[in-house]
Amino acid sequence: MTTISNRLQHILATIQSAQTISGYQQQVKLLVVSKAQSTSAIREAYAAGQTLFGENYLQEALDKQAELTDLPIEWHFIGPIQSNKTQPIAQHFAWVHSIDRLKIAQRLNEARPTDLAPLQVCIQVNVSNESSKSGVPPHDLESLAIAIALLPRLKLRGLMAIPAPTHDSNQQQAQFKQVRQCYDALLAKGFMLDTLSIGMSDDYPVAIAEGATIVRIGSALFGARPAPDMKN
Ligand SMILES: *Cc1c(COP(=O)(O)O)cnc(C)c1O
Repeated sequence: MTTISNRLQHILATIQSAQTISGYQQQVKLLVVSKAQSTSAIREAYAAGQTLFGENYLQEALDKQAELTDLPIEWHFIGPIQSNKTQPIAQHFAWVHSIDRLKIAQRLNEARPTDLAPLQVCIQVNVSNESSKSGVPPHDLESLAIAIALLPRLKLRGLMAIPAPTHDSNQQQAQFKQVRQCYDALLAKGFMLDTLSIGMSDDYPVAIAEGATIVRIGSALFGARPAPDMKN
């Protein structure tokens, strides 16, 4: 077995055991984050059984997609979105996790081709209160969700968050609990949601304990990323 294949099996086993002990009894999907990784690394992960891949940078993603058209990969866009990039994102991805304002949602809705299924979307929520970070503050979440739910070419699936990085598992847990509370508040308002996209390489078992349904994992699978010297 290759290293990527070995690591993938290890991650899937870790997900499985975290899922077994989580009180939420949820199904958890693995989204492999392939930013800064080569198409041959993606092919290796695909050959080991992985079909969901996430990318942060549009041009990098489009270049890789063009080289990988022979593989039925489900592509997820997880990076910050500039409004002049919404059209290719709406055309080339199945999911977008990082919606943080209505204008972006409206533009994705308008650009989503009618021969494709509605774009599956999550709202990115900012629970770390850092003004530099993207994501909508919790108190603006409901009005954004109401507006997005009215857009016919988007399907609102849930929330995504990138909590402030910390190796303290109590702090990780506290931040995930906040995201979970935002999610539960929307469910209580009647939104039909099934996706909580939280948890990365350093904290995914904690995220699963707090109800994650998608974990987004890069370095735990591929190793440390090369220096970001040629992004877009
Ligand atoms: C890079 C990235 C990840 C994966 O991070 P790792 O720590 O390498 O697992 C997950 N989500 C987002 C939004 C990212 O940008």
